[in-house]
Amino acid sequence: MSFHERINAPARAFLEKQHQLIINGKAVESRSGKRLDIIDPGNGNVIATSAAGTAEDVDLAVAAARRAFEGDWAKVKPNQRARLMIRYAELIEAHGDELAQLESINSGKPLTFCRNADIPNVSEMFRYMAGWATKIEGTSPNVSLPGEWAAYTLREPVGVVGQILPWNFPLNLFSWKVAPALASGCTIVLKPAELTPLTALRMAELALEAGIPAGVLNIVTGCGNPVGAAISEHAGIDKVSFTGSTETGKKILHAATGNLKRVTLELGGKSPVIVFPDADLDAAAAGAARAIFFHAGQVCAAGSRLFAHEAIHDDLVDRIAAIASKMKVGYGLDDDSDLGPVISQTQLDRVTGYLVAGQEQGAQVRVGGKRVGDRGYFIEPTILTGTRPGMSVVDEEIFGPVLSTMTFRDDDDLDVIAARANASPYGLSASVWTSDVRIAHRLARRIKSGAVGVNVHSAADASLPYGGFKQSGWGRERGFDAIESYTEVKAITLNLN
Ligand code: NAD
Repeated sequence: MSFHERINAPARAFLEKQHQLIINGKAVESRSGKRLDIIDPGNGNVIATSAAGTAEDVDLAVAAARRAFEGDWAKVKPNQRARLMIRYAELIEAHGDELAQLESINSGKPLTFCRNADIPNVSEMFRYMAGWATKIEGTSPNVSLPGEWAAYTLREPVGVVGQILPWNFPLNLFSWKVAPALASGCTIVLKPAELTPLTALRMAELALEAGIPAGVLNIVTGCGNPVGAAISEHAGIDKVSFTGSTETGKKILHAATGNLKRVTLELGGKSPVIVFPDADLDAAAAGAARAIFFHAGQVCAAGSRLFAHEAIHDDLVDRIAAIASKMKVGYGLDDDSDLGPVISQTQLDRVTGYLVAGQEQGAQVRVGGKRVGDRGYFIEPTILTGTRPGMSVVDEEIFGPVLSTMTFRDDDDLDVIAARANASPYGLSASVWTSDVRIAHRLARRIKSGAVGVNVHSAADASLPYGGFKQSGWGRERGFDAIESYTEVKAITLNLN
């Protein structure tokens, strides 16, 4: 079957469009007039092109977002915002097959995950955040000033927000950022990753169809420099929310100092998976495999460092290796693919570079370790043993399907185990596998990361705050924490004397 026969008619029609920017509810060409190729990472083919936005395009988008913030969107009552968001969630579900195919073709993630996980999660995020729109409230502080006073606080939308997305979860992260911003009453200038702009563009069309007013959600496609840089330093933007590499996050932070805009950063990770001898080893092996191999390891919370008690290390690694060996590495649209490609030639080179460096530094390949085929950017699920801190595969974020394994012993107490798990500049996620509830709680408290799973790695739910300690970022997304991050608190005091 040809590529075009494999995709559904709406996805095909969308792919064939001349994609433009979306500013003030209209598709417009970029000021550069230039186009960027959009590649299918499963075969390296160009599937479409996008508009290469400029700083001037960002200016236009910010102006539209400001007009909407002070105009049409400000007039929409919270319950109407909630209804619009529910309508949006329904449209996302109705267009689920089309969105899932576009996501799979552009990001390489197997279609089954896009259809069965991403689409429900994305619509759920809009439904969940819609619920908050009517519940964003202030307080009435009990002041102790002399005489009689009344005081209350208002929680107001922060204003025009810039949102910069990475390529690993284009649809999901769109919902993590856009849903709380809409619920809070903000307006948005969003830049998808230059490698994966398709679903953000389609989502912006659906937002308009849902009745979200023009100018509330503007999309400027293009490269980090100039588009992302222009958003980060723009004086007309009140907050920037970014997901991506720690290196780029630091640049954004510097750029944001001009007008001291609020900054939320979701950055890298090197998350530990810690397995005790009393754990259910089948469950731990399945969980550890999923933690590192899901989406070819291109997950900020990926469980890339395994710490297993020495008594069960070899058995556990055998079980994870057995799972890895059975995984079908294949094209995203193939029904039986468990693992798709990594996103680009650059990412492939980066991951294979780490594999070479790891072996030069003494690591042994237990399973995997090689590129698959010579078309597209596929890598075998890989386990490296004999790894230790100081090796680049242990210390650095690889962002590929590569697990490094290490052991701990009976005489290592929980402080020692935690110190080894915490020996990283990152602190995004962690998991502890044990049947002893005391170990679970005591170790969870000692781990320095934004999330700790017990007998699960990285549980995802719209209500759970997500973000990092240390260099994994600033602030939280999801849950009410996300709403807080898109609002400002104002204290109003009345002198009644
Ligand atoms: P990146 O951080 O450079 O890109 C992420 C987004 O930031 C993209 O939209 C990009 O256009 C934009 N950007 C780039 N430079 C910018 C700038 N100066 N100002 C504002 N925006 C800018 O990530 P990458 O180069 O695509 O990937 C490199 C590595 O980053 C990966 O190998 C991985 O380790 C890490 N990464 C992490 C995540 C995550 O979820 N934490 C996601 C993607 C990549």
